[in-house]
Amino acid sequence: MTAQYKEKESSGVSSVLVLGGGSAGLLAALALKCQLPHCSVKLIHSKEIGVIGVGEGTTAVFPQFLFKVLGISKERFYREAMPTWKQGIRFLWGERGDYFYDFGFQYDQQFPGMSKATGFYAEENCDDLSEVCAMMRAGKAFAAGPLNKPLIKGEYAFHIENEKLVRCLTNIAIEHGVVMEEDTLLHAQADENGIRSLHFQSGATHSADLYIDASGFRTELIGKALGVPFQSFAGSLFCDRAVIGGWVRQEEPLQAYTTAETMDAGWCWQIEHEHFINRGYVYGADFLSDEQAEAEFRKVNPRAGNTRVVKFRSGRMERSWEKNVVAIGNSSGFVEPLEATALAQIIFASRWLVEMLKQSQYRPGDAQRDQYNLFMGRAWDEIRDFLALHYKFNTLRDTPFWRHCQEHTSLGDFQAFFEKYQQIGPSPTLINTLPYQPNVYGIEGYLVHLLGMRVPHRAGHPATPQELAIWEKHRARHRLTASQALTCQQALDAIRRPHWRWD
Ligand SMILES: Cc1cc2nc3c(=O)[nH]c(=O)nc-3n(C[C@H](O)[C@H](O)[C@H](O)COP(=O)(O)OP(=O)(O)OC[C@H]3O[C@@H](n4cnc5c(N)ncnc54)[C@H](O)[C@@H]3O)c2cc1C
Repeated sequence: MTAQYKEKESSGVSSVLVLGGGSAGLLAALALKCQLPHCSVKLIHSKEIGVIGVGEGTTAVFPQFLFKVLGISKERFYREAMPTWKQGIRFLWGERGDYFYDFGFQYDQQFPGMSKATGFYAEENCDDLSEVCAMMRAGKAFAAGPLNKPLIKGEYAFHIENEKLVRCLTNIAIEHGVVMEEDTLLHAQADENGIRSLHFQSGATHSADLYIDASGFRTELIGKALGVPFQSFAGSLFCDRAVIGGWVRQEEPLQAYTTAETMDAGWCWQIEHEHFINRGYVYGADFLSDEQAEAEFRKVNPRAGNTRVVKFRSGRMERSWEKNVVAIGNSSGFVEPLEATALAQIIFASRWLVEMLKQSQYRPGDAQRDQYNLFMGRAWDEIRDFLALHYKFNTLRDTPFWRHCQEHTSLGDFQAFFEKYQQIGPSPTLINTLPYQPNVYGIEGYLVHLLGMRVPHRAGHPATPQELAIWEKHRARHRLTASQALTCQQALDAIRRPHWRWD
């Protein structure tokens, strides 16, 4: 390390330049500005290049981050970004044909009076194991509280139109003191210590103590300027394109879940906006041409208007933090949106970066960079293996693509866990054998899919009549709550009434 760079490190990070104004750049800039107010944060983005314009499903991490960590007003966010609620995902997938995945617990629990965890009783029927799953199945969003008001609490996520999200976050970022500029990066000057300066189309040159590469798939700084290698996930994930389209909602009910529907060479999402239905067929170009994908998409979605094809590669940067550049968002890594993980990854990355800066008194060195890279690398690899499981065991369609997935999908670090599952069955104690600790999905995430797809194990448990009665009682209670719950539209109407107050 040169003396000059050491000097820079010892003077600490007080200025950050974010390249990119998509959801990654905006969320990272907001996280830094809100949590490190002494730092000057400048965000430069190119209108000419624009944003990717997809990424409309979140996980439960997202509202918690916005409202609890950043302190953004709920009233304002609901008014400007106009999200609808997502309580989970409905998978049209696996041997059963469908199952729900919520943000709470279905299988990481044991009902009192039963000798085993719920997964041991779910062979025949796995419906309504949680209140939220019963509500999703019944087309509802939230339980009804006093005066029939929706109880909007617990673990829920959002569906948000990307354009509205970016516009809303831009306004909030400016108000919080993030300096925003429009310009297009032409050239980054780099040396052995990292980026020295950025040169833009307008003729301006900018430099900072720390650079955030949020330039999306273009990886302007981490990839092009610093040459960090890309690690492909092509051994586990075979999809590399999506045909995207949608239509103005007509009589279709507004559901509080994303749908992931098995297709011939991949799967199709359905994201529920209040006035628009967004669909996208994620497929492998080795198995289907763009024209064939478009035709299959239209067959399933006859109301779809114009479509566009987005190409992507699954994988991650070997290191997301290199020298004085931290890549966040699609520039750091990308996996297809089957579990809508990208916004959560942006949030983890932003929070972890803030933590590393604070931990080092704003003088991050190799120790912080190594820790950050270890953490983010594992987070990407865990998602890779989690998604691989969806492909390996989906037997709903017998097509060349799905046969290829069953035969060739690598379970990666998850293989040993899977062998234990086959011996021990769906026991929550398997958490100890998960390869990633701590893990994002918990044992719940893995069991939902293994049981939802009816992946066999050798630890069957014959339920007693008493156990079956208890089992039924719980599911019936969940169904009753669901029958009295409110739909997504009723909940949206409720929060727009003049007397509504967010607690
Ligand atoms: C098909 C598909 C579906 C997806 N669905 C989901 C989902 O449901 N949920 C989810 O969480 N995520 C989803 N994603 C991921 C989603 O794209 C990202 O979560 C999110 O939009 C972050 O993108 P980004 O900000 O990294 O990149 P982008 O939105 O591409 O933004 C890049 C920014 O960098 C700027 N830029 C680039 N080059 C330059 C330059 N030379 N000079 C100046 N500025 C520059 C651009 O102008 C832009 O402002 C999906 C992605 C794809 C491809």
